[in-house]
Amino acid sequence: MGEKIIAIDVDEVLAETIRSMLEKYNYTWKWKKVERENLTSYNLREIPELWMTKNFALWMFVKFQMWSWLSKKIKPVKWAVEKILKLKEKWYKLFAVTARLSWMRFSTKLWLKRHFPNCFEWVVFANFFTNRARKKSEICKDIWASIIIEDNLETCKDCAENWIRCFLLDKPWNQCEKLQDGIMRVFSWNEIEL
Ligand SMILES: [Mg+2]
Repeated sequence: MGEKIIAIDVDEVLAETIRSMLEKYNYTWKWKKVERENLTSYNLREIPELWMTKNFALWMFVKFQMWSWLSKKIKPVKWAVEKILKLKEKWYKLFAVTARLSWMRFSTKLWLKRHFPNCFEWVVFANFFTNRARKKSEICKDIWASIIIEDNLETCKDCAENWIRCFLLDKPWNQCEKLQDGIMRVFSWNEIEL
């Protein structure tokens, strides 16, 4: 596999999506606030803290991802911009690999273009939760990536089992007792040394 190809997740690794969505949510439901730090799951249909129906939560999240590039609400994750530029300087080839659905291509690409211009070779959509869903480990093999930077623990487990080195960005929803070989927990982009 290519040594210099890295797959990078979008939501919560490059983009502070849920933080921005919760700001909106907490503004609307002031009496029922949800703190990002308390989230035990990132599956929008499983977050018990959210005071809304499961489908509505999912709809709100997708709508947010769709339109946020226009409103400039979703900010990049701290140190992501600086670190990505450093990786580019070292001639790494970067691919954005997201669980998002492919019909979000337009808004996703525009958001990436705004905050990470000319940084990514390609954006790959894994279409999670649909019948066209693909495992990120498969995508990594397709694009010859030997490293992935992720916030989803299950995705990291899947990739580590397929010999892909994982950097798991520490988040409230990916806590666990022990990580298997091949997965390294990092607390910020600054800790990722390549
Ligand atoms: Mg993510």
